[in-house]
Amino acid sequence: MSYKNIDTTCVQGGYTPGNGEPRQIPIVQSTTFKYATSEDMGKLFDLEAEGYFYTRLQNPTNDYVAKKICELEGGTAAMLTSSGQAASFFSIFNIAGAGDHIVASSAIYGGTYNLFAVTMKRMGIDFTFVSPNASEEELQAAFRPNTKALFGETIANPALVVLDIERFANVAHKNGVPLIIDNTFATPVTCRPFEWGADIVIHSTTKYIDGHGASVGGCIVDSGKFDWTKYPDKFPGLCTPDESYHGVTYTERFGLAGAYITKATAQLMRDFGCIQSPQHAFYLNLGLESLHLRMQRHCENGLAVAQYLKNHPKVAWVRYSGLEGDECYDLGKKYLKYGGCGVVSFGVKGGRAAAEAFMKNLKIAAIETHVADARTCCLHPASATHRQMNDEELAAAGISPDLVRFSCGIEAAEDLISDIENALAEV
Ligand SMILES: *Cc1c(COP(=O)(O)O)cnc(C)c1O
Repeated sequence: MSYKNIDTTCVQGGYTPGNGEPRQIPIVQSTTFKYATSEDMGKLFDLEAEGYFYTRLQNPTNDYVAKKICELEGGTAAMLTSSGQAASFFSIFNIAGAGDHIVASSAIYGGTYNLFAVTMKRMGIDFTFVSPNASEEELQAAFRPNTKALFGETIANPALVVLDIERFANVAHKNGVPLIIDNTFATPVTCRPFEWGADIVIHSTTKYIDGHGASVGGCIVDSGKFDWTKYPDKFPGLCTPDESYHGVTYTERFGLAGAYITKATAQLMRDFGCIQSPQHAFYLNLGLESLHLRMQRHCENGLAVAQYLKNHPKVAWVRYSGLEGDECYDLGKKYLKYGGCGVVSFGVKGGRAAAEAFMKNLKIAAIETHVADARTCCLHPASATHRQMNDEELAAAGISPDLVRFSCGIEAAEDLISDIENALAEV
């Protein structure tokens, strides 16, 4: 069933119980599933029938929740993963291997940068990082004949740069590759990247979607719009028989709507096993049920805090796309329902030491690596999540040494502002 308003989909999507069935999504806490004959089960293994046989590949609870996120994003197929990192990895490894090349925005999550620049590079996949502000010509210059995808974040964590998704999609499509968007900070409530030309969306559901700091998870959604069959030489894994799966050709058997996610399930989940537990998927759905309400409050608090900081004499600069005068204000207006998210970044006058002194004196906002949570939290990336990067790499990712990432929760804005006010008074 599909609903006209995304608010209704947050509450009702993905699962419609039949007569006498549980109202809430059932947690199918079972690794395995029973069949009457070997033949019945064989059909599942051959991907000839739909059904469940082993939770490492698929589980009904996970599928209900993936379906809800799929509906929220307006996609054709989706899968949950054990984490956002697994989602990022699968989204690329599903269509690229040793000898291939990917172009990615340099303004991305630190963990994603490390996955790409270090770990996946060791697997033989080369990455070129480009500025999120790169012109079409500059983006074009980064492409090679073996480029397989373009990757970026809707709102970069922690740089808070809003990506011009349409511009990135244009260049990707001119080069016959999909645009993969990490939509973690925006969520489908504030931006639906498929409407702007993105082909694949991924999430760290650990952040706003779960929203309560309760469970680590990820999700991949396919728009079903990218035509792999136009480029069979570029995407042989989708367009030619998979010998590891009884010779199935994913695009032929599952069409554009299902090929990408089926391949990621049948091959990558089978081999890497980054499955989310059904219990976590259940928690994730509880978060989804209030996502639309929470995002509105997160964004209201983000704007109120940004406006307060902007006028504070001890604050050197503020970054928030919803704030008039911000360099991403126009992009925020175009792509984001509320102009920004709950995360504000700013610099405390006095640099690194002043930032640390400020954070120590906060009472409500907790120092955490976490972000995008119902409870306000904050982080100094240069000494925590991004400490692997040298100053040049930090600058390319849009992070200065004095940057404080302040993630507004869903408390009252007035209390958050007085917490900030008191802490700044101690600096
Ligand atoms: C946290 C985060 C990730 C990684 O997700 P995990 O669930 O922690 O593995 C990826 N992208 C963005 C934008 C994030 O904020």
